Amino acid sequence: MKDKLNKIEEAALQSASVAASEAELQQVRARYLGRKGEITAVMKGMGQLSPEERPLAGALANQVKDRLEAAFAERQESLRQELMQQKLANECLDVTLPGRRRRRGYKHPITQVTEEIIEIFAALGFGVAEGPEIERDFYNFEALNIPKDHPARDMQDTFYVSEDVVLRTHTSPVQIRTMLKQKPPVRVVAPGTVYRRDSDITHSPMFHQIEGFLVDRQVTFGDLKGILTTFVTEFFGKNVDVRFRPSFFPFTEPSAEVDIQCVICGGTGCRVCGQSGWLEILGSGMIDPEVFKSVDYDPELYTGFAFGLGIERIAMLKYGVNDLRLFFENDLRFLKQF
Ligand SMILES: [Zn+2]
Repeated sequence: MKDKLNKIEEAALQSASVAASEAELQQVRARYLGRKGEITAVMKGMGQLSPEERPLAGALANQVKDRLEAAFAERQESLRQELMQQKLANECLDVTLPGRRRRRGYKHPITQVTEEIIEIFAALGFGVAEGPEIERDFYNFEALNIPKDHPARDMQDTFYVSEDVVLRTHTSPVQIRTMLKQKPPVRVVAPGTVYRRDSDITHSPMFHQIEGFLVDRQVTFGDLKGILTTFVTEFFGKNVDVRFRPSFFPFTEPSAEVDIQCVICGGTGCRVCGQSGWLEILGSGMIDPEVFKSVDYDPELYTGFAFGLGIERIAMLKYGVNDLRLFFENDLRFLKQF
Protein backbone atom coordinates (compact mmCIF):
# COMPACT_ATOMS: atom_id res chain seq x y z
CA MET A 1 0.00 0.00 0.00
CA LYS A 2 2.76 2.37 0.96
CA ASP A 3 4.76 1.48 -2.14
CA LYS A 4 1.75 1.98 -4.29
CA LEU A 5 1.12 5.45 -2.84
CA ASN A 6 4.78 6.40 -3.25
CA LYS A 7 4.74 5.37 -6.90
CA ILE A 8 1.58 7.33 -7.57
CA GLU A 9 3.06 10.37 -5.83
CA GLU A 10 6.25 10.16 -7.86
CA ALA A 11 4.35 9.83 -11.13
CA ALA A 12 2.01 12.69 -10.21
CA LEU A 13 4.90 15.03 -9.35
CA GLN A 14 6.64 14.09 -12.59
CA SER A 15 3.50 14.83 -14.65
CA ALA A 16 2.94 18.12 -12.84
CA SER A 17 6.49 19.29 -13.47
CA VAL A 18 6.16 18.79 -17.24
CA ALA A 19 2.64 20.27 -17.55
CA ALA A 20 3.09 23.16 -19.99
CA SER A 21 -0.05 25.12 -19.14
CA GLU A 22 -2.62 25.57 -16.41
CA ALA A 23 -5.08 23.54 -18.49
CA GLU A 24 -2.65 20.64 -18.70
CA LEU A 25 -2.00 20.88 -14.96
CA GLN A 26 -5.75 20.69 -14.33
CA GLN A 27 -5.85 17.42 -16.25
CA VAL A 28 -2.97 16.01 -14.21
CA ARG A 29 -4.71 17.02 -11.01
CA ALA A 30 -7.93 15.33 -12.10
CA ARG A 31 -6.03 12.16 -13.01
CA TYR A 32 -4.63 11.78 -9.46
CA LEU A 33 -6.84 13.72 -7.08
CA GLY A 34 -10.16 13.85 -8.94
CA ARG A 35 -13.22 11.81 -8.02
CA LYS A 36 -12.07 9.08 -10.36
CA GLY A 37 -8.40 9.80 -9.72
CA GLU A 38 -5.75 7.29 -8.67
CA ILE A 39 -5.35 8.48 -5.05
CA THR A 40 -9.10 8.50 -4.63
CA ALA A 41 -9.22 4.94 -5.92
CA VAL A 42 -6.61 3.85 -3.39
CA MET A 43 -8.52 5.47 -0.56
CA LYS A 44 -11.72 3.77 -1.65
CA GLY A 45 -9.88 0.42 -1.60
CA MET A 46 -9.00 0.84 2.08
CA GLY A 47 -12.26 -0.74 3.10
CA GLN A 48 -10.63 -4.11 2.37
CA LEU A 49 -7.79 -3.55 4.82
CA SER A 50 -7.83 -4.87 8.34
CA PRO A 51 -9.04 -2.46 11.06
CA GLU A 52 -5.48 -2.17 12.40
CA GLU A 53 -3.98 -1.22 9.07
CA ARG A 54 -6.70 1.22 8.10
CA PRO A 55 -5.76 4.34 10.21
CA LEU A 56 -2.14 4.14 9.19
CA ALA A 57 -2.94 3.78 5.52
CA GLY A 58 -5.51 6.59 5.75
CA ALA A 59 -3.01 8.93 7.34
CA LEU A 60 -0.45 8.04 4.70
CA ALA A 61 -2.86 8.61 1.85
CA ASN A 62 -3.87 11.99 3.30
CA GLN A 63 -0.25 13.06 3.58
CA VAL A 64 0.37 12.14 -0.04
CA LYS A 65 -2.77 13.97 -1.03
CA ASP A 66 -1.70 17.12 0.87
CA ARG A 67 1.78 17.06 -0.63
CA LEU A 68 0.35 16.70 -4.12
CA GLU A 69 -2.12 19.55 -3.56
CA ALA A 70 0.78 21.74 -2.44
CA ALA A 71 2.93 20.70 -5.42
CA PHE A 72 0.12 21.38 -7.89
CA ALA A 73 -0.51 24.82 -6.37
CA GLU A 74 3.15 25.65 -6.60
CA ARG A 75 3.36 24.49 -10.22
CA GLN A 76 0.27 26.50 -11.04
CA GLU A 77 1.81 29.64 -9.57
CA SER A 78 5.04 29.19 -11.51
CA LEU A 79 3.07 28.61 -14.74
CA ARG A 80 1.24 31.88 -14.11
CA GLN A 81 4.51 33.70 -13.61
CA GLU A 82 5.90 32.26 -16.84
CA LEU A 83 2.83 33.37 -18.75
CA MET A 84 3.12 36.86 -17.28
CA GLN A 85 6.79 37.10 -18.24
CA GLN A 86 5.96 35.98 -21.73
CA LYS A 87 3.23 38.59 -22.07
CA LEU A 88 5.49 41.35 -20.79
CA ALA A 89 8.16 40.38 -23.29
CA ASN A 90 5.78 40.24 -26.25
CA GLU A 91 3.56 43.20 -25.50
CA CYS A 92 6.18 45.63 -24.40
CA LEU A 93 5.77 49.33 -25.12
CA ASP A 94 8.73 51.14 -26.62
CA VAL A 95 8.36 54.67 -25.29
CA THR A 96 11.28 55.83 -27.42
CA LEU A 97 9.36 55.23 -30.69
CA PRO A 98 8.28 58.47 -32.41
CA GLY A 99 4.54 59.22 -32.03
CA ARG A 100 2.06 58.82 -34.86
CA ARG A 101 1.07 62.27 -36.02
CA ARG A 102 -2.65 62.79 -36.36
CA ARG A 103 -3.56 64.34 -39.70
CA ARG A 104 -5.28 67.65 -39.24
CA GLY A 105 -7.76 69.28 -41.56
CA TYR A 106 -7.43 72.88 -42.68
CA LYS A 107 -9.89 75.50 -43.72
CA HIS A 108 -10.04 76.06 -47.46
CA PRO A 109 -8.24 79.28 -48.47
CA ILE A 110 -11.55 80.68 -49.79
CA THR A 111 -13.12 80.09 -46.37
CA GLN A 112 -10.12 81.65 -44.65
CA VAL A 113 -10.32 84.79 -46.78
CA THR A 114 -14.11 85.00 -46.35
CA GLU A 115 -13.77 84.80 -42.58
CA GLU A 116 -11.02 87.38 -42.54
CA ILE A 117 -13.15 89.84 -44.56
CA ILE A 118 -16.20 89.25 -42.32
CA GLU A 119 -14.05 89.85 -39.25
CA ILE A 120 -12.83 93.23 -40.55
CA PHE A 121 -16.38 94.37 -41.29
CA ALA A 122 -17.67 92.97 -38.01
CA ALA A 123 -15.22 95.25 -36.24
CA LEU A 124 -16.85 98.13 -38.15
CA GLY A 125 -20.28 97.10 -36.87
CA PHE A 126 -21.51 95.00 -39.80
CA GLY A 127 -23.61 91.89 -39.21
CA VAL A 128 -23.79 88.86 -41.53
CA ALA A 129 -26.77 87.85 -43.71
CA GLU A 130 -27.28 84.96 -46.11
CA GLY A 131 -29.73 84.12 -48.86
CA PRO A 132 -30.65 81.30 -51.27
CA GLU A 133 -28.44 80.38 -54.24
CA ILE A 134 -31.47 79.54 -56.36
CA GLU A 135 -33.14 82.89 -56.63
CA ARG A 136 -36.24 84.54 -58.05
CA ASP A 137 -35.72 86.92 -60.96
CA PHE A 138 -37.22 89.67 -58.83
CA TYR A 139 -34.49 89.55 -56.18
CA ASN A 140 -31.60 88.90 -58.55
CA PHE A 141 -32.55 91.53 -61.19
CA GLU A 142 -35.87 93.34 -61.01
CA ALA A 143 -35.57 94.86 -57.53
CA LEU A 144 -31.96 95.82 -58.23
CA ASN A 145 -33.04 98.10 -61.03
CA ILE A 146 -32.25 95.58 -63.77
CA PRO A 147 -35.53 95.22 -65.71
CA LYS A 148 -36.20 92.46 -68.26
CA ASP A 149 -34.78 94.27 -71.30
CA HIS A 150 -31.76 95.68 -69.47
CA PRO A 151 -28.40 95.04 -71.19
CA ALA A 152 -26.83 94.21 -67.78
CA ARG A 153 -28.65 90.87 -67.94
CA ASP A 154 -26.52 89.88 -70.93
CA MET A 155 -23.41 91.07 -69.12
CA GLN A 156 -24.02 88.57 -66.38
CA ASP A 157 -24.33 85.34 -68.40
CA THR A 158 -27.10 83.97 -66.25
CA PHE A 159 -27.95 80.30 -65.63
CA TYR A 160 -31.74 80.12 -65.88
CA VAL A 161 -33.62 77.39 -63.99
CA SER A 162 -36.89 78.61 -65.47
CA GLU A 163 -38.10 81.89 -66.87
CA ASP A 164 -38.53 83.31 -63.38
CA VAL A 165 -35.86 81.39 -61.45
CA VAL A 166 -32.09 81.73 -61.79
CA LEU A 167 -28.91 80.64 -60.08
CA ARG A 168 -28.04 83.94 -58.45
CA THR A 169 -25.42 85.85 -60.46
CA HIS A 170 -24.32 87.92 -57.50
CA THR A 171 -24.90 88.20 -53.73
CA SER A 172 -26.89 91.44 -54.22
CA PRO A 173 -30.29 89.73 -53.86
CA VAL A 174 -29.41 89.36 -50.16
CA GLN A 175 -29.47 93.17 -50.01
CA ILE A 176 -33.07 93.15 -51.22
CA ARG A 177 -34.14 90.33 -48.91
CA THR A 178 -32.53 92.03 -45.91
CA MET A 179 -34.00 95.46 -46.63
CA LEU A 180 -37.47 93.98 -47.11
CA LYS A 181 -37.23 92.48 -43.62
CA GLN A 182 -35.45 95.26 -41.78
CA LYS A 183 -35.85 99.04 -41.60
CA PRO A 184 -32.75 101.33 -41.50
CA PRO A 185 -30.25 101.59 -40.02
CA VAL A 186 -28.84 98.40 -41.58
CA ARG A 187 -25.22 97.38 -41.81
CA VAL A 188 -24.69 93.93 -43.27
CA VAL A 189 -22.20 91.83 -45.21
CA ALA A 190 -23.47 88.85 -47.19
CA PRO A 191 -20.99 86.19 -48.28
CA GLY A 192 -22.00 83.41 -50.66
CA THR A 193 -21.68 81.31 -53.77
CA VAL A 194 -22.72 82.80 -57.12
CA TYR A 195 -22.99 81.40 -60.67
CA ARG A 196 -22.24 82.65 -64.17
CA ARG A 197 -21.75 80.99 -67.52
CA ASP A 198 -18.06 81.75 -67.74
CA SER A 199 -14.97 79.58 -67.44
CA ASP A 200 -11.29 80.31 -68.04
CA ILE A 201 -8.08 80.99 -66.11
CA THR A 202 -9.66 83.86 -64.15
CA HIS A 203 -13.35 82.86 -64.32
CA SER A 204 -15.24 79.91 -62.89
CA PRO A 205 -18.96 79.14 -63.42
CA MET A 206 -19.22 78.95 -59.62
CA PHE A 207 -17.40 81.44 -57.45
CA HIS A 208 -17.77 83.43 -54.23
CA GLN A 209 -18.69 87.00 -53.54
CA ILE A 210 -19.15 89.07 -50.49
CA GLU A 211 -21.64 91.87 -50.60
CA GLY A 212 -21.90 94.67 -48.12
CA PHE A 213 -24.23 97.59 -47.61
CA LEU A 214 -25.05 100.27 -45.15
CA VAL A 215 -28.25 102.34 -45.08
CA ASP A 216 -29.09 105.12 -42.66
CA ARG A 217 -29.93 108.82 -42.62
CA GLN A 218 -27.25 111.04 -44.12
CA VAL A 219 -24.89 108.38 -45.38
CA THR A 220 -22.53 109.95 -47.89
CA PHE A 221 -19.98 108.92 -50.49
CA GLY A 222 -17.39 109.96 -47.91
CA ASP A 223 -18.64 107.16 -45.63
CA LEU A 224 -18.27 104.70 -48.49
CA LYS A 225 -14.68 105.84 -49.10
CA GLY A 226 -13.85 105.74 -45.41
CA ILE A 227 -15.21 102.24 -44.80
CA LEU A 228 -13.71 100.71 -47.95
CA THR A 229 -10.31 102.35 -47.43
CA THR A 230 -10.29 101.01 -43.88
CA PHE A 231 -11.11 97.54 -45.21
CA VAL A 232 -8.32 97.63 -47.81
CA THR A 233 -5.66 98.79 -45.38
CA GLU A 234 -6.79 96.23 -42.78
CA PHE A 235 -6.69 93.43 -45.34
CA PHE A 236 -3.71 94.30 -47.56
CA GLY A 237 -1.67 96.47 -45.21
CA LYS A 238 -1.26 100.17 -44.52
CA ASN A 239 1.30 100.76 -47.26
CA VAL A 240 -1.05 99.81 -50.09
CA ASP A 241 -2.48 102.76 -52.03
CA VAL A 242 -6.21 102.83 -52.86
CA ARG A 243 -8.00 104.70 -55.63
CA PHE A 244 -11.68 105.12 -56.53
CA ARG A 245 -12.50 105.10 -60.24
CA PRO A 246 -15.91 106.12 -61.68
CA SER A 247 -17.89 103.17 -63.00
CA PHE A 248 -21.41 102.02 -63.75
CA PHE A 249 -23.72 99.54 -62.03
CA PRO A 250 -27.51 99.48 -62.47
CA PHE A 251 -28.12 99.38 -58.71
CA THR A 252 -25.82 102.21 -57.60
CA GLU A 253 -25.48 105.86 -58.57
CA PRO A 254 -22.82 107.21 -58.51
CA SER A 255 -20.71 104.04 -58.80
CA ALA A 256 -17.03 103.50 -58.27
CA GLU A 257 -14.59 100.70 -58.75
CA VAL A 258 -11.89 100.40 -56.13
CA ASP A 259 -8.32 99.68 -57.21
CA ILE A 260 -5.35 98.92 -55.02
CA GLN A 261 -1.74 99.41 -55.83
CA CYS A 262 -0.52 96.19 -57.47
CA VAL A 263 0.56 93.85 -54.67
CA ILE A 264 2.86 91.95 -57.06
CA CYS A 265 4.99 94.79 -58.47
CA GLY A 266 4.27 97.49 -55.90
CA GLY A 267 2.90 99.84 -58.60
CA THR A 268 5.75 99.83 -61.12
CA GLY A 269 3.82 97.69 -63.63
CA CYS A 270 3.84 93.94 -64.30
CA ARG A 271 2.00 91.19 -66.19
CA VAL A 272 -0.60 90.71 -63.42
CA CYS A 273 -1.67 94.37 -63.37
CA GLY A 274 -1.34 94.77 -67.15
CA GLN A 275 1.54 97.25 -66.62
CA SER A 276 -0.89 99.72 -65.01
CA GLY A 277 0.39 99.37 -61.45
CA TRP A 278 -3.22 99.02 -60.21
CA LEU A 279 -5.51 96.08 -59.49
CA GLU A 280 -9.29 96.30 -59.43
CA ILE A 281 -10.63 94.62 -56.28
CA LEU A 282 -14.22 95.67 -55.80
CA GLY A 283 -17.24 97.51 -57.14
CA SER A 284 -19.22 99.97 -55.07
CA GLY A 285 -21.55 102.93 -55.13
CA MET A 286 -24.40 104.82 -53.51
CA ILE A 287 -27.54 102.68 -53.58
CA ASP A 288 -29.84 103.85 -56.40
CA PRO A 289 -33.13 105.41 -55.19
CA GLU A 290 -34.92 102.97 -57.55
CA VAL A 291 -33.66 100.10 -55.38
CA PHE A 292 -35.00 101.80 -52.25
CA LYS A 293 -38.41 102.10 -53.91
CA SER A 294 -38.60 98.36 -54.54
CA VAL A 295 -37.97 97.62 -50.82
CA ASP A 296 -40.20 100.43 -49.58
CA TYR A 297 -37.47 102.65 -48.11
CA ASP A 298 -38.05 106.39 -48.48
CA PRO A 299 -35.23 107.72 -50.75
CA GLU A 300 -35.85 111.22 -49.39
CA LEU A 301 -35.11 110.01 -45.88
CA TYR A 302 -32.40 107.41 -46.36
CA THR A 303 -29.19 107.05 -48.28
CA GLY A 304 -26.72 104.20 -48.32
CA PHE A 305 -23.87 102.54 -50.10
CA ALA A 306 -23.19 99.02 -51.29
CA PHE A 307 -20.15 97.13 -52.45
CA GLY A 308 -19.30 93.70 -53.72
CA LEU A 309 -16.09 91.83 -54.23
CA GLY A 310 -14.97 88.48 -55.62
CA ILE A 311 -13.42 86.36 -52.90
CA GLU A 312 -11.34 84.23 -55.31
CA ARG A 313 -9.82 87.36 -56.80
CA ILE A 314 -8.91 88.68 -53.36
CA ALA A 315 -7.46 85.29 -52.39
CA MET A 316 -5.41 85.14 -55.61
CA LEU A 317 -3.92 88.56 -54.86
CA LYS A 318 -3.33 87.80 -51.20
CA TYR A 319 -1.57 84.48 -51.82
CA GLY A 320 -0.07 85.18 -55.27
CA VAL A 321 -2.07 82.39 -56.97
CA ASN A 322 -2.23 82.83 -60.75
CA ASP A 323 -4.90 80.29 -61.71
CA LEU A 324 -8.39 80.52 -60.23
CA ARG A 325 -9.12 76.86 -60.98
CA LEU A 326 -6.58 75.72 -58.36
CA PHE A 327 -9.08 76.74 -55.69
CA PHE A 328 -11.64 74.22 -56.94
CA GLU A 329 -9.50 71.22 -57.83
CA ASN A 330 -9.04 70.44 -54.14
CA ASP A 331 -5.56 69.06 -54.61
CA LEU A 332 -4.26 68.65 -51.05
CA ARG A 333 -0.73 69.62 -52.13
CA PHE A 334 -2.14 73.02 -53.07
CA LEU A 335 -4.58 73.40 -50.17
CA LYS A 336 -2.05 72.46 -47.49
CA GLN A 337 0.01 75.55 -48.22
CA PHE A 338 -2.47 77.94 -46.62
ZN1 LIG B 1 1.78 94.83 -61.07
